[in-house]
Amino acid sequence: MSDSTLSQLLADVFGYTAFREGQLQVIEAVQQGHDALVLMPTGGGKSLCYQLPALAGTGLTVVISPLISLMQDQVEALQAMGVAAAALNNSLTPEQNTTVMQQLHNNEIRLLYVSPERAMQSFFMRQLQQWQVNLVAIDEAHCISQWGHDFRPEYGQLGQLRESLPNVPFMALTATADAATESDIITRLHLHQPVVYKGSFDRPNIRYVVEEKYKPYKQVTDYIKKQRGASGIVYCGSRKKVEELAEKLQREGLKAAGYHAGMEHEQREFVLRGFVRDDIDVVVATVAFGMGINKPNVRFVVHFDVPRSVEGYYQETGRAGRDGLPAEAVLLYDPSDAGWIQSIILQNPDDERRRIEQHKFAAMQSMCEAQTCRRLVLLNYFSEYRDKPCGNCDICLDPPRQYDGTVDAQKVLSCVYRVGQRFGVNHVIDVLRGSKSQRLMELGHDKLSTYALGAEHSHEYWLGVVRQLIHRGLLIQNVQQYGILQLTEAARPVLRGDIALQLAEPRINLVVSKPRVAD
Ligand code: ADP
Ligand code: ZN
Repeated sequence: MSDSTLSQLLADVFGYTAFREGQLQVIEAVQQGHDALVLMPTGGGKSLCYQLPALAGTGLTVVISPLISLMQDQVEALQAMGVAAAALNNSLTPEQNTTVMQQLHNNEIRLLYVSPERAMQSFFMRQLQQWQVNLVAIDEAHCISQWGHDFRPEYGQLGQLRESLPNVPFMALTATADAATESDIITRLHLHQPVVYKGSFDRPNIRYVVEEKYKPYKQVTDYIKKQRGASGIVYCGSRKKVEELAEKLQREGLKAAGYHAGMEHEQREFVLRGFVRDDIDVVVATVAFGMGINKPNVRFVVHFDVPRSVEGYYQETGRAGRDGLPAEAVLLYDPSDAGWIQSIILQNPDDERRRIEQHKFAAMQSMCEAQTCRRLVLLNYFSEYRDKPCGNCDICLDPPRQYDGTVDAQKVLSCVYRVGQRFGVNHVIDVLRGSKSQRLMELGHDKLSTYALGAEHSHEYWLGVVRQLIHRGLLIQNVQQYGILQLTEAARPVLRGDIALQLAEPRINLVVSKPRVAD
């Protein structure tokens, strides 16, 4: 089919005047019978890549999609545009199921959405061979990969589907694009020399900020108050924290609500609808919230806890600023959170999976700890290389300043030594700052030579120094023993004054104190 006919369909059915980057290329590839792999960020326009060819032909396009709610939304939207679309999944009544099957036999359906489980049923696979299938599109294709952050076992079988329809072009689509996932999709789906289209993963209107986490509840509350009713999402690492934070925000008079998979279905729907209609400003949620939400005006996404992978981080932050206007992604980072995340990862009984998750988490951690442009690190992770820093992340806007931190380091290290290497971060800082807490007095730590040596700086300041000493390997935080701080060999030359140590100035209250440049 010629470009102009495709453009005509684009205008007539969808009401769009032009193709987006990559769409035409992919559509033409499958029309010529090639397999295709489409890697585009969320919101990039992937659906059109299989919807349009479906309308251009007389046969059937089968779309494999993992989420029933997403399927339903798409089918309804298509039907509203007058497209013959249907879905087959476990939520249909037997009568509805029979009706759809009849329509399929009569070749009355152009687009059929099915769950991967359904697609793999042998009865259904045989039916597919009877019908005139023009294209099979696999949405959220990263679910097939162990490397994907969202692996689904039922996707694992889809390679068989490809074998049973050897002459039908397959199109795999995903918003996850690290090289390992990409090649895994091609292998596992048995794609034959696919045309690969990879869009840019840059979201230039999103400002990335990583902030030291020290008083997270207060940090988040202050931040949200500054947003004055703008729409936002706060992701937390557990349901319990979701509930606690949502309640705290409500008590502050903010229009906030919690969302997690443990809540009643109706309650979740209520929150989702409220958010979409702007009745609720802030949703505090686990990662269960988000897939399939198409709300353009989300102005900020906060990570209360560090995500477990860069892909997850990218997907979640990607829900901000779909309208192209300035938006912000703020991550509160506390290196010691890594301890409990690692313990969750270690509980996974599957060796391979555990190894992958550890690897992914390490990449996330290094992104948080990087001293270079966040966007460069992020895009680099998706194999998209840039050489110029972005100018719209915390590092670019406020480059970390180095200073001679030898004396600060000596204060901390000797304080750790004086308390017998038997206390955690907070106690060491209390001693340094000359706290008069009862416990400290009872221990006699006010008599130590390092007592009140660092009274001139805030708790957060010292926390920043301690964390850097941990990163640099001068201190270790013994997780087996309540996180007590201990010196390493590397601390000796610094303590003795044999070598100087450059440190980065602690970055505190960054977001709250910085005006938005793009405003
Ligand atoms: P993805 O699946 O990649 O996240 P979608 O397919 O949901 O993205 O598309 C995102 C938005 O872009 C949708 O609102 C869609 O209607 C719109 N869109 C897609 N293609 C075009 C186009 N060629 N012109 C204008 N809008 C488009
Ligand atoms: Zn930058």
